[in-house]
Amino acid sequence: MSLYHEAAGILQAVRREQASVKSLVFSKKGWKSDPKTLFALSTEAAKWSDVLSEALEKSGILGVEKQLTPELALVLTHDLFLSKKGIALPASHGLYTSVSKHKVRLSAELTKARLRRGCASLDQLRAKIDDPSSNISADGESNGTAVAKYPRWVRINTIKTSLQSQLDTTFADYSRSSTVRGTLSGGNEKRLHIDKHIPNLLAISPNIDLTTTKAYKSGQIILQDKASCFPAYLLNPGSSEGDVIDACAAPGNKTTHLAAILAEKDNQNAKVIACEKNDLRSQTLAKMTKLAGGEKSITVKAKQDFMRLDPSAKEFRNVTALLLDPSCSGSGIVGRDGGGLTVHLPTSTSTDKGKSSSATSSRGKKRKRQTDKPSPQQPTNPVTTIPTSALEEQEEQPLEEPESTSNSTTTTLQTRLTNLSTFQLRLLQHAMLFPSARKISYSTCSVHFQENENVVLRALRSPVARERGWRVLRREEQVDGMRRWGRRGWRGECERFLREEEGGGGGNVGALAEEVAEGCIRCEKEDGRRGEGTRDEEGTMGFFVAGFVREGGGDDDRGSIAGREGNGGGMEEDDDEEWEGFDD
Ligand code: SAM
Repeated sequence: MSLYHEAAGILQAVRREQASVKSLVFSKKGWKSDPKTLFALSTEAAKWSDVLSEALEKSGILGVEKQLTPELALVLTHDLFLSKKGIALPASHGLYTSVSKHKVRLSAELTKARLRRGCASLDQLRAKIDDPSSNISADGESNGTAVAKYPRWVRINTIKTSLQSQLDTTFADYSRSSTVRGTLSGGNEKRLHIDKHIPNLLAISPNIDLTTTKAYKSGQIILQDKASCFPAYLLNPGSSEGDVIDACAAPGNKTTHLAAILAEKDNQNAKVIACEKNDLRSQTLAKMTKLAGGEKSITVKAKQDFMRLDPSAKEFRNVTALLLDPSCSGSGIVGRDGGGLTVHLPTSTSTDKGKSSSATSSRGKKRKRQTDKPSPQQPTNPVTTIPTSALEEQEEQPLEEPESTSNSTTTTLQTRLTNLSTFQLRLLQHAMLFPSARKISYSTCSVHFQENENVVLRALRSPVARERGWRVLRREEQVDGMRRWGRRGWRGECERFLREEEGGGGGNVGALAEEVAEGCIRCEKEDGRRGEGTRDEEGTMGFFVAGFVREGGGDDDRGSIAGREGNGGGMEEDDDEEWEGFDD
């Protein structure tokens, strides 16, 4: 039994930490199962996860078998169909029966998944999956010229090193590519691309494991998705500006990025104040701060609820900017390991619609508990030698996709998004209260309007924004790379929101929607597996970021959207309303 729980824990860690399966398994002692067996099962299950999760989703068993997490379902289904010995459990074991009783259904779905990939036999599919340069997604070509979807993004930590120094050492034997796409098609060839939007960021070939390099282990390079670098870069703390609060900081990717930007600008007076509410994640944040060499410039406020900071306290008098990257649905996340494997997880789409939604919500809560308080079999960070800098930023599991679920699950999704956006808005309004603050960046790794532009618009219309003169940071005011980034906010949705607020729409609704949507920055994750997304040439996860600025202080509302709109449409938030999400 421990083999399956431990392998499920490895897959979970791969998604959260971007560490390779190899390093996760072999740098830790004390596994209950044989490490070689654990490594083989975790690796194979990850390789097959695209196909298996498709079969699991279509069969709907996750909606019925409530004891199965998506990761457990993957490893068990792997052994049921793909291991010579089958599932290594007695046939009477609960986990065994939870998948074996659906064998016929699963087998039929597996066959369909194979045929959708153009493979006449399981051996053909196996050969295709074993070829690392082959694209195994349902939308993938089968002629061997297909490419992987995402590069490996590497941020050069300029607190400890420089781009040139890394190009001369860690990446000395890499060939250069002028495009992101060029890094994807070379199989195991070492290729790199210097990013055109974010300074000190590289895209490298996805099949290369950097987690064993000296640069990675010493915190000189940090595995961080390109999109995740947008908030600190957009906030752009200047050489003579004051302190920056990172309100929701763990594991610390953006915190250390902020510290690196301040160091690059030789701003030695400013510090980054990093708050993290969760105990375990605060420890991770402290480790990452140390590893990245940010101890001098970063003050970690462990177990600190940002909402409980008093904006008028003396210690925040010098805070001129805030970075707010709160908990979100995580719907933009792509799970990859440091060695180039992508772990796809099935959602609980079910043919048994009645059971689907209750299974979904109870599983969601269960997963969260596992995340915060891991069982002995599921270590949160089992790899002492792997830098915490690689930790996945998002602590939540992605929500179900609304398009693929039953009505009741869609309602559950809507309720959760409403709860999340209420929580996100409250944090954003709190950020707007800091008396010396002039800049805020707000970001999520969600693709949902409700957590993104909607929160921005509601924040802009709140009394605190109106009173203090906060407005959106317009595209033309943004730092160069962000100004040039093509994907902007959803204009149509912004306009619809504003018209509904106005009860039909005032004269300048269109212009306002344009200004806000253009100010917002989006990244789309490609999701060819479901055939929904468009292929993103930039190879990022799904992400959203917007900036807020104010020129005046106190009650000055010059320049604010609210100020130019007149009095209509202010939204008062209920301060007593608690977010009943995942952080219990
Ligand atoms: N910015 C981080 C990074 O780039 O590495 C990722 C942040 S993650 C999306 C959100 C974090 O906010 C979680 O670690 C969560 O525990 C924390 N959090 C949630 N509510 C909070 C609050 N009220 N105060 C402080 N931290 C909070």
